Amino acid sequence: MRARLDELATGSLRRGEAVPAFTCYDFATATAVVEAAEEAGRGIALLVAPKTAARPAGLRLVTALRGLADGAAVPVSVQLDHANDLTVIGQAVAAGADAVLADGSSIGFEDNIALVRTARDLVGPGIVLEAKLGGLAGDEDRAFAQEAAGLTDPGQVSEFVQRSGARLLAVAVGNVHGKYKGEPALRWDVMGRIAQEADVPLVLHGASGIPAADLARAASFRVGKINVNTELRTAVLASVASGAEGFRADGENLAGLLDEWSAAARAVAGGVLRTLRA
Ligand SMILES: [Zn+2]
Repeated sequence: MRARLDELATGSLRRGEAVPAFTCYDFATATAVVEAAEEAGRGIALLVAPKTAARPAGLRLVTALRGLADGAAVPVSVQLDHANDLTVIGQAVAAGADAVLADGSSIGFEDNIALVRTARDLVGPGIVLEAKLGGLAGDEDRAFAQEAAGLTDPGQVSEFVQRSGARLLAVAVGNVHGKYKGEPALRWDVMGRIAQEADVPLVLHGASGIPAADLARAASFRVGKINVNTELRTAVLASVASGAEGFRADGENLAGLLDEWSAAARAVAGGVLRTLRA
């Protein structure tokens, strides 16, 4: 069923939980993730990466995910992730996205605010805008070992949220996109200060590799959404690698391989949902 992402996150925080958000590059993965959410009885977000959305087929995927979300038995939001191209933002919303991360974290404080406000004017109040303050190391779509880079400045948070009008705020607190070089070390001190400054739910990107106990703890620091991408890709690619030869030998059994693919994605999503459950 359709859901506003900010309300989904706020409602989950009241239960002491964060909403998991899963990046989907294809419909089989998205369906499996929604099935896991239905089994858990919890809402989720389906994320479409910006490079995916920038392709014509990506917009068709957004529309397909819209239908999947609306037909789900639990609240599901469809979010365009990390977008800084207003054309892509407009196209993705027209295709069915109901939330957007307008990501100006790499263009400076004032320009970042301006991007979020311009995106707000473009998409209207019915679309939920997440913004991001502080840069994250790593690549969204390809995972390599990363050390954490910049941190969100807690002193900027209140002004940024107020002036940008963002409904959710992604933060840099020792998290990275991709894989962690060594042990991930979340900066709880910084998160605590940000949580005092922000009156909107915070978002933690780059959850793959962060210990389950830390993910579960994040909700007590106002983290209302946790983005998962790499972990899902790792599991799906492993299932394809181990299953491909056997299914090829079994009469080119693509449906069988897709079942394995879906089971792998469902297992990851189910595990994350259990981890985040209060
Ligand atoms: Zn991200």
